[in-house]
Amino acid sequence: MNTAQAAGHGTLGGSFQGQSLTERVGYVAGVAAEHAPRHDREATFPVEALAALRETGLLGLTVPIDHGGLGATVSDLLDVCIELGRADMSVAMILGMHCQQVAALVGHAAPQLRDELLPRIAAGRLYLASVTTEAGKGGHLLTAESQAHTDNSHLVIDRFAPIVTGGAHADGFLITVRAPDASSPNQVSLVYADREQLTIEQSGDWQPMGMRASHSAALQLTGRVPAHQVVGEHGQFSRIAGEVFGPLAHLAWSAAWLGTAAGALARVVAMLRSPAGRRRFDLGSELLLGRLSAARQKIDTVHALLRHTEQALRCGTELSAPRIQLLLNALKITASEQCHAAVDDLIQAVGLRDGYLKDSATRLELALRDLRSAPLNYSNDRLHQADGRLALLDAEVRLA
Ligand SMILES: Cc1cc2nc3c(=O)[nH]c(=O)nc-3n(C[C@H](O)[C@H](O)[C@H](O)COP(=O)(O)OP(=O)(O)OC[C@H]3O[C@@H](n4cnc5c(N)ncnc54)[C@H](O)[C@@H]3O)c2cc1C
Repeated sequence: MNTAQAAGHGTLGGSFQGQSLTERVGYVAGVAAEHAPRHDREATFPVEALAALRETGLLGLTVPIDHGGLGATVSDLLDVCIELGRADMSVAMILGMHCQQVAALVGHAAPQLRDELLPRIAAGRLYLASVTTEAGKGGHLLTAESQAHTDNSHLVIDRFAPIVTGGAHADGFLITVRAPDASSPNQVSLVYADREQLTIEQSGDWQPMGMRASHSAALQLTGRVPAHQVVGEHGQFSRIAGEVFGPLAHLAWSAAWLGTAAGALARVVAMLRSPAGRRRFDLGSELLLGRLSAARQKIDTVHALLRHTEQALRCGTELSAPRIQLLLNALKITASEQCHAAVDDLIQAVGLRDGYLKDSATRLELALRDLRSAPLNYSNDRLHQADGRLALLDAEVRLA
C-alpha cells in the first residue's frame, strides 16, 4: 500500500491528518467489523463506518492531491477494498462504488463541476451514490429509459431507481438518464445531483438475503439541476462506462469479494489453531486439509487475476480491445464464483456449529449470503453473452 500518498493532504481537521493509509483503513475496518452483525440483522446502513470513512479522509481516497484528496492509485483502492472486505463486504462495496463515481468526475466532469465537488469529497462531506439500474432495462449500462428534459438553464430529472446502495445516506448522486434530445435509448447522459436538489422518496422495504448493510433500497428521484452538472458530453455516457464504470466496478467489486473470502479463511484458520479448535478438530485430517487447500487455492487464483488485470490496464492498453474486455469480464465472473465457492468449501470443512450458525465466530454464514449477490450484481449471464461475441471478434485469441 502506498502510504506516502496518504500523508494527510486532505482538508480534514481530525486526528487522522498525517496518518498512513494503513492506519486509516485499519480504523475503518475496526469500526465496520464492530457494527457489521447488527446492520446485517437489521438490514440497516453502516452509518458508523460511513462516518469513519468521512473522518479518515477515505471518502477522498482517489481524489487527486491538488483537490485535497489522498491521490491514491487504483492499486491502493484495491488494497483498501480487500481490507474492508475482510471486515464487512457491504462497507467495501460502498467505498468501491463511491470511488468509481469519483473517478468519473475526475476523468470526465468539466472544470467547474470538478472544482465544486472534488474538494467536498476530499473533506469527507460528499458521499456519492450510483444510479444506473432502471426498471425495464435492468443493469444494462448503455441504455436509459427515463429522459431528462431541459428547462432554461436546468435539467429536469424524474427517475425511478430500483436499487441504490446507500441512497438514503448519500449527499449526492450520479444518475444515468436518456439525453434531453435523444432519439434512441443508447444516448445516455450522466448527471450529478446534490441531495438538496432532489426530492427523494424511498419506495418499498430493503430485505435481501445478503448485502443487507448496503441498504440498496428503491428510490424515486425528482428535481432540477443546473445544466453544467452533466458529466461528460450529453448522450456520451458510453465513454465513461467503457473507461471508468466498467473497469473500476469489476476491479473494486472483485477486491471486495476477495477480501470477504480471505477474511473468512483467516477466521477459520484462527479458530482451528486456537486451543478450543485443536480440541475439536483433527488438524491432520486429510479431508479437512484438502478443503482448506481448495479454499485457499480459489482465493489465491482470484488474487492473481485481480492483480494481473489491474496491471494489464495500467500498461496503457486500449481499453476497448477485445482481450482487455474479456480479461475484465473474466475477473468479475471468476471472482464472483470462486470467492463464493471458497466460503462454501470452508463451511463444508468446519461443519454446522462453526460454519452454518449465524452467531459462529467464523461469520461464514454472513460471508456466504453476502457473496451470493456477486454473480447477480451485473449478471454473469450478461457478461457471458458479451464475452461470446468478443471471443468471436478475437480470431487470433490474443491473451492480455
Ligand atoms: C448489493 C447490490 C448493490 C447494488 N447497488 C446498485 C446501485 O447502487 N446502483 C445501481 O444502479 N444498481 C445497483 N445494483 C444493481 C446491479 O448493478 C444490477 O443492475 C442488478 O443486479 C441487475 O443486474 P442485471 O441487469 O444483470 O440483471 P437483470 O436486468 O435484473 O436481469 C435478470 C436476469 O435476467 C438475465 N438477463 C437479463 N438481460 C440479459 C441479457 N441481455 N443477457 C443475458 N442475460 C440477461 C440475467 O440472468 C439476469 O440475472 C446493485 C446490485 C446489488 C446486488
